Amino acid sequence: GLTSRLQNVFSKLRGKGKVSEDDVNEAMREVRLALLEADVNFKVVKEFIAKVKEKSVGKEVMESFTPGMVIIDIVNKELTELMGGSQAKLAKSNRPPTVVMMAGLQGAGKTTTSAKLAKLLLKGNHRPLLVAGDIYRPAAIKQLQVLGEQIKVPVFTLPEGNSPVEIARQALQHAKDNGNDYLLIDTAGRLHIDEELMEELKQIHEVTKPDEVLLVVDAMTGQDAVNVAESFNEQLTLTGVVLTKLDGDTRGGAALSVKAVTGCPIKFAALGEKIDALEPFHPERMASRILGMGDMLSLIEKAQANIDTEKAKEMERKMRNAEFTFDDFLEQMEQVKKLGPLDQLMDMIPGMGKVKQMKDIKVDEKQMGRVEAIVHSMTKQEKQNPDMINHSRRKRIATGSGTTLADVNRLIKQFDEMRRMMKQFSDMMGPKGKGNKMM
Ligand code: GDP
Ligand code: MG
Repeated sequence: GLTSRLQNVFSKLRGKGKVSEDDVNEAMREVRLALLEADVNFKVVKEFIAKVKEKSVGKEVMESFTPGMVIIDIVNKELTELMGGSQAKLAKSNRPPTVVMMAGLQGAGKTTTSAKLAKLLLKGNHRPLLVAGDIYRPAAIKQLQVLGEQIKVPVFTLPEGNSPVEIARQALQHAKDNGNDYLLIDTAGRLHIDEELMEELKQIHEVTKPDEVLLVVDAMTGQDAVNVAESFNEQLTLTGVVLTKLDGDTRGGAALSVKAVTGCPIKFAALGEKIDALEPFHPERMASRILGMGDMLSLIEKAQANIDTEKAKEMERKMRNAEFTFDDFLEQMEQVKKLGPLDQLMDMIPGMGKVKQMKDIKVDEKQMGRVEAIVHSMTKQEKQNPDMINHSRRKRIATGSGTTLADVNRLIKQFDEMRRMMKQFSDMMGPKGKGNKMM
């Protein structure tokens, strides 16, 4: 993929104490190919390479101590710039409701994204109202209603015979009357852009005067997604793009081209089918993800939002004093699970994505379940003091947890090792530990 190709180019550069203009040219040739292969628009690639080259062959870079690193930094900054520079936030009207209209082709993810966005807004203490504006596919209204029920957000519908324009008009009034501060209008899509579809969207636009017109595009379609964005933008004046299916096998082309080609910032990224899988889009994080530098910022943010800091401090104290028990272990597993699917977490840690690919490591949620079952089969005393668990008790625990003796032995051994390492680690950090905190 793009990331591993870029990493190859950069590891060559990094190894050099001196970088010549030829080295830069050679590296840029490879970066260019990698970007084209990732389905980035060729004009975008051309301009990108020109910019990076211009900045890289300067005297300061060539004569610096770590020219390779400086060039990687230049590429990182330019990639970030290419995707809009800084995060583009969702509009907020000072005369609520803020009207957000979704547009896009059929199957791009409009309905799912509408619900995900409602969930995000709900978390931010807003009162969204979803509007079922796709009346053509029989199951479309139901789909939105089911999602709305799941996240406890009301869904506005009208009986059959009402046009999407009429639905949108009445929904707006309903939101005003009921104090909904965001109106999220799901619309119909087609397989291809056609006049009828555009006409309807324009009418909804005219009636609701949206503060935000978000085009939902499937990142897996690469260049096509960008072409779709261009056509929609000509007719509707988009305010932002939502890239969906970034969890799939996308080559990165859409993410890297859409802003440059249409001038519309990517505002959100969808990374899965689950209702929580929508995130504000951060260009700098996407850039470091593409460069394989992981996404530590997202990880830290997630951890901060989900991990109980008091508990974390208590955990840290226990580790220092080697008082860590199996109860604490379970507790910690719970905290980690709150962060989301494990293999997605792995991707955020620098280098881990690559390791995972290389070794084909499957981070196994089932394995975690087994571990939990084993710990739950221990008595209270045993959890506090695993050293007391003898052979016959281990056999009982295995039976009780539906695992094997080998599983139990392995876990206890790993736990012992972990405790030993924690002890060593905290000794190393000194009594007060000025080293890095765990988070
Ligand atoms: P619409 O026709 O534009 O309203 O598209 P839908 O919201 O109905 O989504 C079409 C399909 O894509 C559904 O099966 C969704 O579950 C799926 N989908 C939407 N967003 C994502 C995403 O970010 N990742 C993945 N893997 N699937 C998605
Ligand atoms: Mg839909």
